Amino acid sequence: LVRVENVSKYFGSFQALDDVSLDVNRGEVVVIIGPSGSGKSTLCRAINRLETIDSGVISIDGEPLPAEGKALADLRAEVGMVFQSFNLFSHKTILDNVTLGPIKVKKMKPAEAQELARGLLARVGLADQAEKFPAQLSGGQQQRAAIARALAMEPKVMLFDEPTSALDPEMITEVLDVMESLARGGMTMIVVTHEMGFAKKAADSVAFMADGKILERQSPEDFFAHPHTERARDFLNKIL
Ligand code: ATP
Ligand code: MG
Repeated sequence: LVRVENVSKYFGSFQALDDVSLDVNRGEVVVIIGPSGSGKSTLCRAINRLETIDSGVISIDGEPLPAEGKALADLRAEVGMVFQSFNLFSHKTILDNVTLGPIKVKKMKPAEAQELARGLLARVGLADQAEKFPAQLSGGQQQRAAIARALAMEPKVMLFDEPTSALDPEMITEVLDVMESLARGGMTMIVVTHEMGFAKKAADSVAFMADGKILERQSPEDFFAHPHTERARDFLNKIL
């Protein structure tokens, strides 16, 4: 479903992505881990074309990423993205945050969008928070609202870039639980996280990045028991 082939990306003379290839099948959950500065966010942003690439090809469902215009907007609708910071519209209610995309981009009727949004908010445990504004919600609730907002576009794939790293510990679980249930429901997911419990429970494979390269990719069981590379062993020793 998502195919990244030999992608390189430079910021000036600094190479942030170095010949990265990553295939993600429909329904697959890939967790990306690696040290700070290894290119994890850059890769996610490239997949959503928030970042251009200098060489290689990224395609979604067989279609290479379009450069601009309506084709790019359509592609963005297919790729849901959840960031570390919740990025909700602060002057809109939670319900309006979730209905905005379907109404604006998918031209859905407001009543229909609201029905969809209420269903999604219920799914992430926020049925009773729909009329509130983001600032009236906890961090964990805001992040769950951000997930509902991304799901409202009915994306083919969901990208998560450290969705829990700005959260207080007691709120991390509630967000991971929502992500786990999405994974079990068959959503295709690329998840940058340092939550190894999530990787063990929900990931089909773990990709380890360092210095802009994917150094290894294997099942979570194998990765945590027998990392192939020295870099991955060092990294695991530091974080576990
Ligand atoms: P972290 O775990 O800290 O989030 P990361 O693996 O997500 O790290 P990236 O954010 O992808 O790392 O950054 C990879 C490298 O590219 C870093 O060295 C970073 O400084 C550099 N970089 C990222 N964005 C830019 C930019 N817009 N301009 C210049 N350099 C950048
Ligand atoms: Mg990052």
